[in-house]
Amino acid sequence: MIPKNHPRYESLILREKIKIAYKEGYLADSGMIAHGRGETFDYLIGEKTIESAYKAIEISIATLILAKNPVISVNGNAVAIAIDEIIELSKVLNCKIELNLFYRTKKRVEIIEKIFKSKGINILGANDNDLLFINGINSPRATADKNGIYDADVVLVSLEDGDRAEILVNSGKKVIAIDLNPLSRTAKMANITIVDNIIRAIPTMKEIAIDLKNKDKNYLKKIINDFSNEENLKKSLKAIKSNMNQ
Ligand code: ATP
Ligand code: MG
Repeated sequence: MIPKNHPRYESLILREKIKIAYKEGYLADSGMIAHGRGETFDYLIGEKTIESAYKAIEISIATLILAKNPVISVNGNAVAIAIDEIIELSKVLNCKIELNLFYRTKKRVEIIEKIFKSKGINILGANDNDLLFINGINSPRATADKNGIYDADVVLVSLEDGDRAEILVNSGKKVIAIDLNPLSRTAKMANITIVDNIIRAIPTMKEIAIDLKNKDKNYLKKIINDFSNEENLKKSLKAIKSNMNQ
């Protein structure tokens, strides 16, 4: 038991969830390492949602509202620490949820599919027969469900690998990445990068989605046009620098 008054309580609870997911057999060992990398960057941004992340969230939600076929991509880490928040967001935005595992095994897919089913959700990406190769690229990083990401115009990814992000962007999809590391290839590759922890970003996305859903479409288009991901990523790096100077 982690005492509630422990100064690193929330962080330790997340580690616990990651450990449980590993023990349950649906999170790969490298998923634990990826989580550790995330923790480092979360320290550097001050474990809070920085201003540039709020901005990226707003632009992401505008993009998801205007999308024809938006899909939220999930992996073992996302399921381990933010499954309920992801389901809530998908309902507000009318998004499908698709599973994409870097280290895909039948067992991991089955466990995750079952967890979603127990919450009333049928996820895409679980059935091998429904998977196609994006742009015909014969790589496990390029598979997508023909009813989901394969045909999606906007894809929300988190803890994504740079190679896959590149494939998605090159296929003409708009990629929104939640990635605590503003220097990762995924962060640089994505059309919109939210430098924040998924456990904070996703609930905030839901709140903003409820708000922006009633806004005029032209307003949403305008804020998207005025946004530069490169500039916004620079602001994220500045936030880290100023945090370190304090
Ligand atoms: P790339 O291939 O894009 O350069 P990478 O190989 O560094 O990235 P991975 O280790 O495959 O990336 O994926 C982990 C990424 O996800 C890291 O950038 C890490 O900072 C980020 N990350 C880890 N945990 C979280 C979290 N809870 N919320 C948001 N991002 C996270
Ligand atoms: Mg990588």
